[in-house]
This record gives sequence, C-alpha cells and structure tokens, in this order.
Amino acid sequence: MGLRGVAALVALCAAFGACPAGAEPLWLANAHLIDGRNAAEVPLVDLRIDGRLIAAIVPASARPGAIDLHGAYLLPGFVDAHSHIQDPAAARRALAAGVTTTRVLGDEYLKALATRDLVRAGHVPGPQMLVSGGHIRPRLGEPFILSFPQFGQYLNAPLTGVDNVRAVARAVIARGVDVLKVGASERAGLADTDPRRAELSYEEMRAVVEEAGRAGLFVAAHAHGRSGANAAVRAGVRSIEHGTYLDDETLALMKRRGTFFVPTLAIMSPLGDPRGDSADSVALQLRTRAMMRPLREAVRKAHALGIPIAVGTDGDYGEGDSARVRPAHEIEELVALGFAPLEAISAATYQSARLLGIESRTGSIAVGLDADLLVVERDPRRDTTTLFEPMLVVRAGRVVLNRLE
Ligand SMILES: [Zn+2]
Repeated sequence: MGLRGVAALVALCAAFGACPAGAEPLWLANAHLIDGRNAAEVPLVDLRIDGRLIAAIVPASARPGAIDLHGAYLLPGFVDAHSHIQDPAAARRALAAGVTTTRVLGDEYLKALATRDLVRAGHVPGPQMLVSGGHIRPRLGEPFILSFPQFGQYLNAPLTGVDNVRAVARAVIARGVDVLKVGASERAGLADTDPRRAELSYEEMRAVVEEAGRAGLFVAAHAHGRSGANAAVRAGVRSIEHGTYLDDETLALMKRRGTFFVPTLAIMSPLGDPRGDSADSVALQLRTRAMMRPLREAVRKAHALGIPIAVGTDGDYGEGDSARVRPAHEIEELVALGFAPLEAISAATYQSARLLGIESRTGSIAVGLDADLLVVERDPRRDTTTLFEPMLVVRAGRVVLNRLE
C-alpha cells in the first residue's frame, strides 16, 4: 500500500474511532522530536509504532511506506492533569485537542466513571481517563448524594468529623476510582463562596490520604486559601489544584515533600474580563481580577523553587463556558510567566504523567512507552499557537485523528 493508501485507511478508521492497534508496524518519518522531558535537542527522527508501543526511534532516512511528516513536530500527547470530562462527546473532543490522558477531578452522577469504562472497553474513543468519582468536601452536593444515597444525611448538613469523612472516602474508593479529590478551601467560581476559607480540616484530609494510600491511590486537593492549602500539603496530598494564595511557608513545604502544583491559570484568567451584568457576574469578575496576581506570583515562586508544576485545564471539553480551555492555553500562560516553551510542554506531558504516577508508561517519547503522540505543523518553541491544532493524534498506537494531507 502506498503512502496515500495508508493515509486514506488511517483517515477512514480514525473517522470511526476504531483503528486496529498495529497489525503491522507503523512508521512516522521525518519529524522533529520533542521528547516531553525538556531535552534541549530536537532531532529529526523516524519513529516506529508496534502495537500500542513506541518500538524504535532512529535518525530520519528515506523510508518507503512510512507516513512522511515533512519536518513537522512530534511530541507526547497532552496529559491534562485536571479536567472535568463527563461524557463520550467530551472525551472525543479532548482527544481531538491532543489529550491522550487526563485526570478527571470531580464527577456528576458518576458519569465520568462510566465514560472511563466505555473508553477502556473500546466502545468510545477517548483519552486514558483517571477519575476521582466525586469531590469530598463539607457540602457534598446533590449529584454526589444521588451517586451515594447512603450519605443522604449530608443533603441538609455538612460532612464533618474524621470518621465520617473516612467513611465517605471508603465508599468512593469502593466504586473503583483512580484518584481522590478533597476540598481544602471553598470554590472560586461561585459568587456566594469565599475561596480563602478552609473546608476540610488537616485531620479529615489526613484520613482521606490514609484510605487512599491503602488502596494505592493519590489525593488531589482543591485549594485556593493559604491555611487550607497548608493543611492539605501537611496531610500528604499529591497535588495542590489552583493554589491561588499559596504562601512561602507552604511553597517551601511543597518543595520538601515533592507536592505538585496544578495552577489552572487559563480557566481562571478570563473570568476577570468584563462579562455579564448581573450582580453575581460582576462580583465574580472583580474577585478573579484580584486573584490572578497572587496566583501568578505563586507560580513564579514555585517555578523558581523547582516545585513540579503540571498542566490542568479545569475544563470539561463540553459545550458550555468551561469548554473553551485547552492544554495549549495553559502552556501559553506558563510561557508568559517565564517558562521556556519546551519546559511548558514538559509540564503538560511528562510532569503531568509523573503527578499521576504513570510516567513509566506515558507522558514522554521513548522506546517501550505507549505510543501516545501528537504532531503539530510548526516549531512550538517559536510559535505555541501551533499546539492548538494537532495534525495527527495517536493514542496507544492507534491513529485517532488525522489531518495530514
Ligand atoms: Zn476543577
């Protein structure tokens, strides 16, 4: 089969989302390699995919039968460390944006968990999903309670107390989640909350970390406020999500403990733009304008300290307001704060995979790892906008998007 034949077949099966995983080895030839680990060299290579894995990476040479990438840029698929994908349509959109793995923090009616299972079983195309199955916080909310009706008492009363929080964590773990999420501080995106105010206590979060640890899982903490974030880090969470008011003491503690920081700048930033004219919209807009300065400051300090920073969009890849953020937006935010482009790409690939504990399987480009790949047209070191439009996306050796000629 000639090049056009291969491309046509790939386009056809990609359209149906079910390309056979490598009956024959597939060569991607003549591409600049960005390995995801922030290697300074960007060599021109040919890469062989065998089944789901990267089987070989060799210097580029004329290679008949290969997909010729004509010097385009090959990088690891994005690992969106904080998303809210809820259904198969969103999973498909994430894949088309180059996201080959995501950690879904929060779940409405356990739809994300079901979507994960559909993707795993091969019924729907989507990124590899690690799902938290809910957000453990004092106000669990109706979607959570409808998923876990044994906790109906928390419809009208807050969840507090170490034993009660532990019981909820156990129930969530028993549903087969991959990670847990705790509320260390209140949310920012609602007019009647105060993101500086702490939610679960150190002892309560510690109980969740213990239960998660027993099941071999990590815990992510939603934390804007300084005391809540500090308690979460001391309790042993794997990552601080948002981190707006992180102070020097907590940053130093994160550095010592290796706690990851997922700042979600891109979803926060535009909330400070003038929008809507209801009292709630204005309150939210003014609040966000005030939050961006400390958040950017915290990221700059964390970067200088060498705290691992991972990319999370906090987006749902749906059709509403929080659908608009992509990993490339967050990469641009990090570059604006002084990251080199390759370093920001590493935050969205290798560092995110490390945060999830799966860096030995994905998140970078090396022989033996899953072929989770992305091809973009231009050099992202000079032009990050190219990251918004993948030409080719490969997930576990399958071509799932192909816009090549
Ligand atoms: Zn979120």
